Amino acid sequence: MSVKIKFLGGAKTVTGSSHLIAAGNTEILLDGGLFQGHRDAFYTNNTTFHYNPRTIKAMVLSHAHIDHCGNIPNLIKQGLRCKIYTTSATKDLADLMLVDSGKIQEEDVRYVNKINRRMNLPLRKALYTAKEASRATKIFRSISYNQKFCIAKDVSATILDAGHILGSGIIVLDIKDAEHSLRLGYAVDLGRKNLPLLNDPVIPKGLDYLIMESTYGGRLHRPIDEAQSKLREAIFRAVKRGGKVIIPSFTLERTQEVIYFLNELLKEKLIPLVPIYVDSPLATNITELFNYHLDFLNEKTRQAFSKGDNPFELLNLRFIREQKESKVLNTDKRPMIIIAGSGMCESGRVLHHLQNNIEDSRNMILVVGYMAQDTLGRRIVERNPFVKIFGVEYELNAEVVVINAFSGHAGQMELLEFVSGCLPLKRIFLVHGELEQSLILSDILTQKGLDVHIPDKDEEVLLN
Ligand SMILES: [Zn+2]
Ligand SMILES: [Zn+2]
Repeated sequence: MSVKIKFLGGAKTVTGSSHLIAAGNTEILLDGGLFQGHRDAFYTNNTTFHYNPRTIKAMVLSHAHIDHCGNIPNLIKQGLRCKIYTTSATKDLADLMLVDSGKIQEEDVRYVNKINRRMNLPLRKALYTAKEASRATKIFRSISYNQKFCIAKDVSATILDAGHILGSGIIVLDIKDAEHSLRLGYAVDLGRKNLPLLNDPVIPKGLDYLIMESTYGGRLHRPIDEAQSKLREAIFRAVKRGGKVIIPSFTLERTQEVIYFLNELLKEKLIPLVPIYVDSPLATNITELFNYHLDFLNEKTRQAFSKGDNPFELLNLRFIREQKESKVLNTDKRPMIIIAGSGMCESGRVLHHLQNNIEDSRNMILVVGYMAQDTLGRRIVERNPFVKIFGVEYELNAEVVVINAFSGHAGQMELLEFVSGCLPLKRIFLVHGELEQSLILSDILTQKGLDVHIPDKDEEVLLN
């Protein structure tokens, strides 16, 4: 039996993770992520398949981030009928994330079609709707960490804790027939040690091959505990001058981490007791899911829960679902902390908070996540003197603070440490990274005598 990997997406880029493993005639997918980018590239990349979704025997899903699961509803529309194996937390989180993604796509198509109608251009269709997305997780099957299970002829899978987000997994595939036996590890995305809510990543043993992310292959992270002290200093300063703190945040994991740190700071009375709002229906629903999946949290957090000390139930914290409640915050002039979606300030409720607060120098925009190029978030991080929000130009007078210590991805040192723990390895494939980042990591690993390859999109590699 020959075993091949085809790198379908997330190769030399960070989004759209999806890889096809062909063990003889058995085809397995690792992830079915959404490629994120400009509109035309988005449609082309997410709808062009160089394989037949109907012939896939099984999918194993690493975690619920959209760049890993976001194309699943579309794959189902294109004929994918197999079971999708993942953890129970990922199944529940993916359900929320996919419906939200469907809503975003419907909104975007409505917006584009308004213009296209005016210009007599052909109308677009959403990649999938919220309704279509809501049916996707019906084919998901939950499995526990560390449990080896057969997913197709000659192929077994085990999911280990990746320590990246709630329920995230490193996937280990064991491919075995009379002539062959090989073990392939898939650490995309890989978390880091000492994250506030999660366990450390588990190191898989006995691998022959490793497919690993390289998002921060060239970057050394600041230690995570620095996030809490930086958060304290920043909030203290803004509140002292009577300002509001706006935190654009990713709804999954980052929002819960920020709440966790705020809770710790409040318990120690290290920040003033000001109102805190989480203004995002999705973040609210996700935070509720954390309460149902305590098994996926680390020992310290589980113990806190069992003592009745829920880190997401602060006296001064309110979760906001309704839009009108969100708008009330605009007229409330008290110092406060507003954590709002979306992470890169491209859409979502964070926009009207920015619109209302960006020109007042007492206020602060506190950046706790990655801001991609060409996003409003990036323009704020770069402190452009003027920024456009809903087509109107605003003066950026609010203080901008960037905390780099937050990251759910392993940095360079952590990636190298992970690889050392996996040795010996026949070959490492670096994916999920901009080429520049992957190359830096590849050079270091090659100097250590390892065989490293950075595959192209749609490249096929035979494993021995
Ligand atoms: Zn991720
Ligand atoms: Zn990812």
